[in-house]
Amino acid sequence: MTPLAIGIHGGCGTLAPELLSDKEWAETRAHLGDSLRAAWKILSAGGSALDAVEAAVVVMEDSPHFNAGYGAALTESSEHEHDASIMNGETLAAGAVCATRRIRNPIRAARAVMEKSDSVLLAGSAADDFAARMGLERVENSYFTTERRVKALASLKARKARGTIALASEAEKHGTVGAVALDGRGNLAAATSTGGFNNKPVGRVGDSPIIGAGTYARNGVCAVSGTGQGEIFIRRVAAYDVAARMHYARQTLDEATAAVIETLGSHKIGAGMAAVDAGGRVVVPFNTLGMARGWIGADGIVHVATHRDVHRLSAA
Ligand code: ASP
Repeated sequence: MTPLAIGIHGGCGTLAPELLSDKEWAETRAHLGDSLRAAWKILSAGGSALDAVEAAVVVMEDSPHFNAGYGAALTESSEHEHDASIMNGETLAAGAVCATRRIRNPIRAARAVMEKSDSVLLAGSAADDFAARMGLERVENSYFTTERRVKALASLKARKARGTIALASEAEKHGTVGAVALDGRGNLAAATSTGGFNNKPVGRVGDSPIIGAGTYARNGVCAVSGTGQGEIFIRRVAAYDVAARMHYARQTLDEATAAVIETLGSHKIGAGMAAVDAGGRVVVPFNTLGMARGWIGADGIVHVATHRDVHRLSAA
């Protein structure tokens, strides 16, 4: 049996510490811990990396603290459009949805596309309808709205009107959730889900549902889930670039992810990722003020963080 590993991120658009109460930060860390434990329960019972990353992402989609599912960013029309994808490193099977508006857990819809359709990516209302036919829970679009996102949208619209949009913090703009895992059979998987960024144009699709850009997994190499301005991740084929550097240039996971974050940063964007290699090493690099993140490795200890300090929660 190979070592088990799970790594997650809750987006590199983390707010400055003073902008939330201690209670809210504690709750954010608790939800990261819940996400890790949901995945670890599956991995330690002999379950698959694919089930583990889906379970980890569902917990973060249901939490108001992350930009995915409940609590996702609002478009310029004050509605929600979600993107998500999942990839199986064993078979290179992948599934994704983009611009969905009604499915409560977009990552479940992505998995259904992978396993129950002949497509890799379904868009918009067709994706919503497909997911509903597959028995997934539908909600009103307003289900996803939280006060925090309403305020963020108002602040970005005000910045746009004043011409100060370039000064907006990473946290005002965006976020994403993602998970990567290695299971006991040596299989890797990655999953990513997002509401995109606040005030995004209707119909805009980011990197999260684009295999190779925001998500990639290949057995024997790595699994990667990214966060940061999706347009640049797409142009740089960021998640696949990590795998390519490892596979062709023989870089380590640390070298490859650091190089890709540096390249993305050269476009003056915030960027982060969660990645795991075939030996179970997890890295969560980012170039912003903070990134919600966490991991469990061979020692079974739950590590979570939002800024610099890493907290060790009780063992999984
Ligand atoms: N990558 C996401 C997008 O562009 C946003 C983010 O991760 O912050 O949709």
